[in-house]
Amino acid sequence: MTVSLCPCLSNKTYQTCCKPFHDGVAFPKTAIELMRSRYSAYVLQLTDYLVLSTHPDKQNRGLKESILQSMKDTQWINLKILKSSLGLEIDKIGKVEFQADYINSNNHETLHEISRFKRHKSNWVYYDGIIMNNP
Ligand SMILES: [Zn+2]
Repeated sequence: MTVSLCPCLSNKTYQTCCKPFHDGVAFPKTAIELMRSRYSAYVLQLTDYLVLSTHPDKQNRGLKESILQSMKDTQWINLKILKSSLGLEIDKIGKVEFQADYINSNNHETLHEISRFKRHKSNWVYYDGIIMNNP
């Protein structure tokens, strides 16, 4: 049996980490879990999951297209969670600050973002994010 590690770099297998979320058979309990599952969805190019895990208020018409566009020529290589506030099982909102590294047309780039998460129908969804300036 081949064991593949989850693309979110949790060191868990994909089956025991983000796959149940991607398959819709389980839901992230915390904002960080949702954040990680969205990162691995970018790696695996699971566009529908990324749309579905976005808050309905933010699911504008161009969302899927812009996600697809952002995946073009982009190879995600690392995720580092820097900080989080709230976003736990008892919370209704949460913030996660992270850095994600990627290669885009041979350039090594870093996305530094503070993402905001909310609950929709009791499940965590991505609300929006603030891109931080890197020094
Ligand atoms: Zn994972």
